[in-house]
Amino acid sequence: MLREVTAGRRLMGRLPQGAYLLETLNDLCAEENITAGEVRALGALTKAVLGFYNQQNREYEYLNLNRSLEIVSLIGDISLKDGRPFVHAHVSLSDERGQLWGGHLAPGSEVFACEAMLVEYQTDKPFERGFDQGTGLLLWPMD
Ligand code: ZN
Repeated sequence: MLREVTAGRRLMGRLPQGAYLLETLNDLCAEENITAGEVRALGALTKAVLGFYNQQNREYEYLNLNRSLEIVSLIGDISLKDGRPFVHAHVSLSDERGQLWGGHLAPGSEVFACEAMLVEYQTDKPFERGFDQGTGLLLWPMD
């Protein structure tokens, strides 16, 4: 199930205001040719789109939050999907009352300010996502 990986480059930086968070993280991984690794970030969003995977219907349902939110935490992994670097990230977001929203980070979430840290992993064999019959999701192979 688990493979040993070694940490390679570590990158950190600020994402531009108005950028789309997930799309920008995907672009950065492609530009830096990071095909496996991890991502963490914090900051704030002007709007967010959160996915929730409906396990019965096997479809993502989306929650659109058109409001200012803090990124309490973003944690994600980087692997390959269709041969390209692909970020899978989950976020915890807080509102002005400190209440949390959370879920699967979807395209269309807009940055107010964001600081991101990426760690590249070196692997013997690529982590390429493929269709998983049991869940209906695009997941890593088990070997
Ligand atoms: Zn997810």
